[in-house]
Amino acid sequence: NTKFNEEFTLIKQLGRGADGVVYMCRHKFDGQVYAVKQIHVRKDLESVMKEARTLSTLAHANIVKYHTSWWEEQPGGGCVVYIQMQYCTSSLKDMLEDPKALIPVAAFNELVQAVEYLHEKKIIHRDIAPKNIFFDDYNRLKLGDFGLAKKKLSLPREGGKVGTGMYSSPKQLENEMASDIFSLGMILFELNCRFSPENQDRDSTMQLAKDGIFPKEWEIANQELAEKIRSMLHPNRSLRPTASQILASLP
Ligand code: ATP
Ligand code: MG
Ligand code: MG
Repeated sequence: NTKFNEEFTLIKQLGRGADGVVYMCRHKFDGQVYAVKQIHVRKDLESVMKEARTLSTLAHANIVKYHTSWWEEQPGGGCVVYIQMQYCTSSLKDMLEDPKALIPVAAFNELVQAVEYLHEKKIIHRDIAPKNIFFDDYNRLKLGDFGLAKKKLSLPREGGKVGTGMYSSPKQLENEMASDIFSLGMILFELNCRFSPENQDRDSTMQLAKDGIFPKEWEIANQELAEKIRSMLHPNRSLRPTASQILASLP
């Protein structure tokens, strides 16, 4: 029998993504509830392992807590990777879709703190979106899904050997961090301009917001905020603020 079946009692399926299924399970030994992500390895194990390897290096109050990971060979061939992590009760996507949901006031601040921590470690998340932002029982924000995250190795000091593709220039790193900042800008806009699920304008409003065009009445009522969001969405990446600068500007 497999470690997954032996050690966990399945409670229910929590979600399904492009590359995996996430289950809510109880660990038979410690009695706690966890989210266990099961990823079927199609091509190379190395790229799937990367998600676990990245998450395992992170310890921050606003990042989904990693417990362990392992892989299992399947009877029919192929293999499955499991990542055992902290169970989160809801996602920002669920909250944004529920007009009655109260989104914690600290949420954005906590999200930027998670991103500041990642960027300090030269890690780019690359998939910051409401569906990958979670909340625990205490309504603390937890950034998750490191399936697309990348750790940048910076250029070694003079004299060091430079491999191809291995290292990136500081400029390149800044450039990629700026994509995470763009996502933060879109989330800050959505948090402050909530749509009801039946609002068909949502998609077109979000599409226009990407170019820094916000609904007129909203813009008039939120001038300062609109400018702040626009700076995060700036078409010139190098002019976008860093996570630390955003934090310093928050009330
Ligand atoms: P996608 O590529 O669509 O973002 P994915 O395959 O990368 O998905 P995840 O985003 O990690 O997988 O998880 C898929 C879904 O499982 C999430 O959208 C969410 O509903 C649920 N989920 C993931 N992690 C947790 C968690 N720690 N606690 C509770 N639910 C979770
Ligand atoms: Mg996801
Ligand atoms: Mg993913």
